[in-house]
Amino acid sequence: MTVAFKRTMSVCPVCLKTIEAEIAVGDDNNIHMMKTCSLHGSFDTLIWEGNVISYLQWAEEDQEGIAPITAIPSDKGCPNDCGLCQNHHSEACCVLLELTSRCNLQCPVCFASANEEGTDLPLSEIKRQYDLLTEHGGPYNIQLSGGEPTLRDDLDQIVQCGKERGFTYFQLNTNGLRIAEEEGYAEWLKKIGISCVFLQFDTLHDEVYEILRGKGLMNIKQRAVDACIKANLPVVLVPVIVPGINEEEIGSILSYAMQYHPHVRGVHFQPVSYFGRVNLPQEQKRITIPKMLKEIEAQTKGQMKAVDFSGGGAESPYCSFHASYRKKADGTWRALQKKKRGCCAMPSSEAMQFVSRQWGKEETEHGDVRGTETSSLDLFLKQAVEDTFTVSGMLFQDAWNLDLQRLKRCYICEADSERGMIPFCAYNLTDCNGKALYRK
Ligand code: SF4
Ligand code: SF4
Ligand SMILES: [Zn+2]
Repeated sequence: MTVAFKRTMSVCPVCLKTIEAEIAVGDDNNIHMMKTCSLHGSFDTLIWEGNVISYLQWAEEDQEGIAPITAIPSDKGCPNDCGLCQNHHSEACCVLLELTSRCNLQCPVCFASANEEGTDLPLSEIKRQYDLLTEHGGPYNIQLSGGEPTLRDDLDQIVQCGKERGFTYFQLNTNGLRIAEEEGYAEWLKKIGISCVFLQFDTLHDEVYEILRGKGLMNIKQRAVDACIKANLPVVLVPVIVPGINEEEIGSILSYAMQYHPHVRGVHFQPVSYFGRVNLPQEQKRITIPKMLKEIEAQTKGQMKAVDFSGGGAESPYCSFHASYRKKADGTWRALQKKKRGCCAMPSSEAMQFVSRQWGKEETEHGDVRGTETSSLDLFLKQAVEDTFTVSGMLFQDAWNLDLQRLKRCYICEADSERGMIPFCAYNLTDCNGKALYRK
């Protein structure tokens, strides 16, 4: 017997119509989302591997979101009014620019469904998007994304256009192929102003890359990490975690990353969601926040504990988890005090500095703390930043588990030339046949 304890709104995974949903304790004592479309039947999706107390406790310290500075009128109702609309409850903090739909891999798992045949967004359009973002409360932290953004040869101009408009943080989301294969490319990225590389890094084994990315890539990933270290370009490893495929590797990926700390600044896990292209040799399986934290604790042999982690701040706590660690003199790691608020619950200028410090360049008003520190304050900041290792994760929503209360708190947006900003999970929402709500 199932027992519902919360109501929310969601969509039908077949027709994407907005429908009511219940959050309920399922027969397995885990938490499920249950909903019924009058045309397409009932859907039951696992959302929390834990009991109702642990589910409610996770959001205990949740605070109200902040409305966006500029908002467009709401007309058709969420999730069909993105822009951001007046019903949204969070300011944007990070914005993705999809520079190209081309990619040099054809991964079985790809939210952007990218391939070799894609096209590039013209530079004039990118400038327009920067301007739109400025009009909508920017500058924001920018994620240069795709497809594979390194397939473009004009990243220098793209960053420069952003800098001219006051944007300062540029994260590069990449599979690492070009960084690994082209001598001097990582140095060039550093020189043009890339703040941090978010490197797709799902496993330490070629066989698993073959399943998730279509070919063995471990050698490439290692060379990409080495190249970034040589170029003094901060790296964050980004594994997609798929139950039954690489969930056993959570601990070994963390150990690998810690071995390269402080160059590798942390690991950002992305438990699999079912949007875009997901062609896996198994039925839909999910891994939820409590299971991720349990696996982190077990696989790091208690070095990192589930209790070290907390949920997001400005975004819904059910969207993400994070913890930070500092290396002690004896080489072991100490969890830093939990933050009640995530980066994006701070005023935007503070939030942007937080992201910059956490993941990327560490400029202070006293200069670049990596290079030219001259005072004890600089030295202190350098140590504080370099000693910190961050473990985080984001559980993107799909048509099966979409909770509009969560979506309204989203702070990661996609830039859209017509609409302005579209929350990431709305932009990437696809029905069960792959038809997108927003993505063109
Ligand atoms: S996700 Fe946010 S911006 Fe989009 S329709 Fe819903 S409330 Fe409006
Ligand atoms: S991208 Fe999706 S999972 Fe992340 S904060 Fe936005 S709504 Fe939540
Ligand atoms: Zn339907």
